[in-house]
Amino acid sequence: AKDQGRNNFQFYTNDLTEQAFEHLSMQTKIRQALDSEEFIPYFQPQINAQNGKLVGLEVLVRWKNKDGDIIPPSDFIPIAEKTGLIVQLDRQVMRKAIEHYTQWKKLGVIEGRLSLNLAVKQVQQKDFFTFIYNLLSKMQCEGSWLELELTESDIMTNLEEMSQKMNQLRELGIKISIDDFGTGYSSLSYLKKLPVRKLKIDRSFIRDLPDDEDDAVITKTIISMAENLGLEVIAEGVETVEQREFLLQNGCYQLQGFLYSKPLNATETLAYLQKL
Ligand code: C2E
Ligand code: CA
Ligand code: CA
Ligand code: CA
Repeated sequence: AKDQGRNNFQFYTNDLTEQAFEHLSMQTKIRQALDSEEFIPYFQPQINAQNGKLVGLEVLVRWKNKDGDIIPPSDFIPIAEKTGLIVQLDRQVMRKAIEHYTQWKKLGVIEGRLSLNLAVKQVQQKDFFTFIYNLLSKMQCEGSWLELELTESDIMTNLEEMSQKMNQLRELGIKISIDDFGTGYSSLSYLKKLPVRKLKIDRSFIRDLPDDEDDAVITKTIISMAENLGLEVIAEGVETVEQREFLLQNGCYQLQGFLYSKPLNATETLAYLQKL
């Protein structure tokens, strides 16, 4: 039994070492990818199903490596967040996304906002406001063209500080929406105190609509709560016609998901916008 114990221990440490190695090599790869600008924005349309118009484009990062492989955020965002590299990564993606967006503005092909996902670490940077302010002036981009998606848990990490940052962003005309709504905190009182304009119903509640009765109740509750608080509401992860019908019948008209479009690269996005 003693021997076995030792073997198990050995297994365990080997495992840990391997993990640490992987972590370290991923960190190095991310650093190199940042230097060679391999992080690029994809865009997913958000549609108002009542009139078919574009409400916005959500920016979703992809890592396009030297071999041309497209790596999804789940493979690198967690490590980028842990190591702080996310700050540089988000800034690279933001800059490129706004570059494309202002181009489309000049071409006159886009209505609706550019919606960004930023890590909480980003928003908490001392120079965050200055960075945004300078980026907007340099790119000739108006704050009112942008939206920022924050999660409840991000906001709750430091409510005081985040509230102050959100107010600064509002001054620039940037709209704040709550991502993954319903999955985080149960305290809703913060909604009244913060400059939040929109709730984004989490995909996990949409997935099994309209059959799952619990999800149906939760979704309806979020929609009517948004209505009562004077907030906009959008559903993410809409894949089927039945989900769309349920959402429309219950008063949620802003929809995003594979039913409309998967996330597209910049070239595909322009083609999509020109066909709208
Ligand atoms: P999120 O912000 O909740 O993004 C929604 C995710 O759902 C995206 O995954 C999107 O591709 C996917 N999705 C959209 N419509 C559908 C649908 O109809 N069905 C299904 N099954 N999935 C759908 P993605 O692109 O892999 O992004 C995952 C997460 O990574 C995002 O979740 C966000 O938290 C994070 N992320 C993405 N881009 C960035 C970024 O530029 N910066 C930061 N900090 N985080 C990002
Ligand atoms: Ca999001
Ligand atoms: Ca989400
Ligand atoms: Ca999410």
